[in-house]
Amino acid sequence: MLLYHSTNLKAQPVPFGQALLKGLAPDKGLYMPETIPAFSEDELDAFRNMNYPEIAFQVGKKYLLDQISEEDLLWVVKNAYDYPVPLDPVYERKYILRLDRGPTASFKDFAARMMGRLMQYFLKKENRSLLILTATSGDTGSAIANAFYGLDNIKVCVLFPEKEITVRQRKQMTTLGQNVQIVAVDGKFDDCQTLVKEAFSDPQLEHLQLSSANSINIGRLIPQTVYYFYAWSRLNTGLNDRAVFSVPSGNFGDMMGGVMAMKMGLPVKRFIIAVNENDEFPVYLQTGKYGRIEPSRNCISSAMNVGHPSNLARLVSMYGGVMDEKGHISRQADLEKMRTDLFSVSITDEETREAIKKAYVDHNILLEPHGAVGWAGLNRYLATEGKMHDKEQLFISLETAHPAKFPEEITRILGFDPVLPPSLQGLENKEEQFDFLGNDYRAFKDYLTKKYDK
Ligand SMILES: *Cc1c(COP(=O)(O)O)cnc(C)c1O
Repeated sequence: MLLYHSTNLKAQPVPFGQALLKGLAPDKGLYMPETIPAFSEDELDAFRNMNYPEIAFQVGKKYLLDQISEEDLLWVVKNAYDYPVPLDPVYERKYILRLDRGPTASFKDFAARMMGRLMQYFLKKENRSLLILTATSGDTGSAIANAFYGLDNIKVCVLFPEKEITVRQRKQMTTLGQNVQIVAVDGKFDDCQTLVKEAFSDPQLEHLQLSSANSINIGRLIPQTVYYFYAWSRLNTGLNDRAVFSVPSGNFGDMMGGVMAMKMGLPVKRFIIAVNENDEFPVYLQTGKYGRIEPSRNCISSAMNVGHPSNLARLVSMYGGVMDEKGHISRQADLEKMRTDLFSVSITDEETREAIKKAYVDHNILLEPHGAVGWAGLNRYLATEGKMHDKEQLFISLETAHPAKFPEEITRILGFDPVLPPSLQGLENKEEQFDFLGNDYRAFKDYLTKKYDK
């Protein structure tokens, strides 16, 4: 059986189902598989003839087959992945991998949908239920609410700062209903997060079986390895055709998925880790010294405004180091090896806007601020490291959200408002349902008890 250990090395290794339902390990570390399973060359080659859910099934099997039947796993992946995953050619062998066609038009749908269905499976097996509590500044909440909507044994309660999210973001959550409850808080995002954290550590709420669905859950990480295999399987000319991926990064869940795929045997030449002005990682890679950025810098790629990536401890552990949850390194990672595999750049807002403009004018490719950081990172790589004239090198840059989610910024740069994808259309006419709370823990606790006590 494949067990999962904590990056802080002080908690018992546990099977997948337990790591999934716990989220954070008891020593506050992050769960990682004790060994990374690998694909043979024949298995990798066979991906060519599989669709997205079939590749997700092969990846899932490696990590949890002794925990779930093939039939159940097949249901999970088919039910989770029922939308397209386009690869847009840009020029030469450079492509944009569009991860923006899920129900909330964000790449977070990939991780959240598979995690939700896996949680449902393990909860049913143990005859248990969970209440997922999440605070959101916009996008995570809607991805989680949509991913868990209609599932059994799971209820979801999302807190959002009343005045800090857009109407469209709100409607993506408040028009669902069923097992999804949305609460507007008279406060800021940090206040919502504080309320949620307080509830998690309140012994009087233990009977509500609270759980989080944030990006540190191993159940979100494994699904994020799949699209790397998928993209390569559509484009490769053989096993020696090693891709360069450019990954716009914030909490580093996305790039961890890529690095794990590489360790599983995916032919990768290098990852470009593109961050916005929160440059703690490129500085660490260069100097070996790590310092959190507090408070994080506000950039237009707002989902990447992260001054201390929560998945960094996992990356450090994959390169033989130990980093605790506060970012303190007690054993240094193999930086030489890391630098061979990863190239990291910080992209300013000015460069991000320029990348959106240039991609559109030169190549007729529409990017939004997060994907544009990735594309700008790829161009920086070409200018400084890549063999400029190797037209045969395969490059894949990830687009993590739909441009229509950023109408103001796109209109400012390009002069038009992008067309909404089908998943975001028609929200205006749907009925909303949500509750209001003051920024007050007693009131929140009272609300949870009244609503969820059986
Ligand atoms: C969350 C998010 C990211 C960052 O992904 P991480 O896994 O946190 O690095 C990038 N783009 C968008 C649109 C996101 O929502």
